[in-house]
Amino acid sequence: MPTKYIVVLGSLMSGLGKGVVTSSIIKMLDFYGYSVLPVKFDGYLNYDCGTMNPYRHGEVFVLDDKSEVDMDFGMYERFLNKNITGDLSITGGKLFSSVIAKERKGDYLGEDIQIIPHLTDEIHKRIEALAAKKKPDVLVIEVGGTVGDIENSYFIESMRQFSLKHDVVFINLTYVPSLEVVGEQKTKPAQIGFRMLLQSGILPKFIICRTDSKLQEKTREKLAMFASLDKERIIDDSNVGTLYELPLHLMSQNFDKLLIKDLGLRLRKKDSAKYQLWKEKTNKVKNPKSRISVAVVGKYVGLKDSYASVKEALVHAGAQENVGIDIRWIESDDIEKKGIPEELSTADALIVPGGFGKRGTEGMISAIKFARENDVPFLGICLGMQLMVVEYARNVAKLKNADSSEFNPNTKYKVIDILESQKDIELKGGTMRLGSWRCRLTNKDSIAYKLYGEEYVDERHRHRYEFNGKYKKILENNGLRITGVTKNGSLVEFTEWSGGFGIGTQAHPELKSRFENAAPLFVGLVKEAKSRKE
Ligand code: GLN
Repeated sequence: MPTKYIVVLGSLMSGLGKGVVTSSIIKMLDFYGYSVLPVKFDGYLNYDCGTMNPYRHGEVFVLDDKSEVDMDFGMYERFLNKNITGDLSITGGKLFSSVIAKERKGDYLGEDIQIIPHLTDEIHKRIEALAAKKKPDVLVIEVGGTVGDIENSYFIESMRQFSLKHDVVFINLTYVPSLEVVGEQKTKPAQIGFRMLLQSGILPKFIICRTDSKLQEKTREKLAMFASLDKERIIDDSNVGTLYELPLHLMSQNFDKLLIKDLGLRLRKKDSAKYQLWKEKTNKVKNPKSRISVAVVGKYVGLKDSYASVKEALVHAGAQENVGIDIRWIESDDIEKKGIPEELSTADALIVPGGFGKRGTEGMISAIKFARENDVPFLGICLGMQLMVVEYARNVAKLKNADSSEFNPNTKYKVIDILESQKDIELKGGTMRLGSWRCRLTNKDSIAYKLYGEEYVDERHRHRYEFNGKYKKILENNGLRITGVTKNGSLVEFTEWSGGFGIGTQAHPELKSRFENAAPLFVGLVKEAKSRKE
């Protein structure tokens, strides 16, 4: 059967949770055993997300194949529980650069190159190629931005044309505000958003309404009437307890059955074990047996999206261990100015996540020192591991002013340094140590080995600097354990404190944590903190 397509379009404003809705649609179809893949279109002219500031755009997500993609890909993988590939990310930058490259090659000789048909055709070709290569039952295409944006207008036009030759179901995500005083849900904005879609020649089959309170019957009827849709096609997307509940919430409205019918697919039996497990985990997130607090000390905490995967990995670990997690976001700059805050000194565990640049690193080092000296369970991720090494070098091995050459190129003790092979790289895009790397866990009695339960593990990376092998011996002699290395043994992947629970990884284990399959290191940290509290 040829691939079917769903296109999710947002109207009125951003921030309605289009990524969660798209992921929930994917999960709904996954429960029925259809093979389903996401495609994301982003209108920006960056080739990919690798050069963007996480403080503005949210976290840069990394896939196994080294692609640096939009954070929505994290959401897709967390819901789908599957590794996906970077070709599913279509950006304005990729489209323009390939059309211009073709023009230079002479592929369009004699023609004047235009948005329509050249760019729109390029989009068709890419999506058809994805369908031909991966053969999914359904491709769910999320269009970034909002209907009416200049950036995505050609993509929307291209999808309209695409629907003339393929089976496409359009879905409109919109906003229904309530006026506090009258307690009434107002449909006018949603009507306007819908009309803008009609102007683009697109008639959605469903309108999903983001609202603060449950969609009222009256609202549903009114919108259905204006959109010439049956009222069951106006879907409630009011606040649910956890975002992992959204697929279940959508299914409770019969959205799954209607959608499957619209796509022209034969209705299959739901995988009830998978569905039940999801439901149970959702309940555990909502009503956990106990609670712990985890301090996250970083430099981008002002925008929680910068650490989206860390946050979700904690939710996954909490769901697995039946414990609720209160994350205490702590700005590392503040620790430099004011010392260790109470939120940290009373926390049940500490995480220092990834990051770039010097700002805030001394605060992170102080936090790590506090955790080591006070036996607080600690997980250092990428930069967090590098600073765990710096802290240990300075305070235990007494290598005065030890540092990473990223922050202090003149220090005598560059315990973290840039690789020779990285030194001459001038291009910034896609040139770090990226994607999935195999690591060998060298000690059976290490925290890492106990948590992963196997000798070889694959985790994703995104960094330029590394543990400097020159300092292996002296740090080991002082009690820092090196418990994981790259397959050929040349680079350090895991470090641990000798006593207590302190582990650093050069990788980003949060990027592979899934709701149905929590990342072992996060589970380990949460379990440790929970058992100490009990
Ligand atoms: N800035 C460090 C490096 O480039 C760490 C990067 C990270 O934490 N992702 O190596």
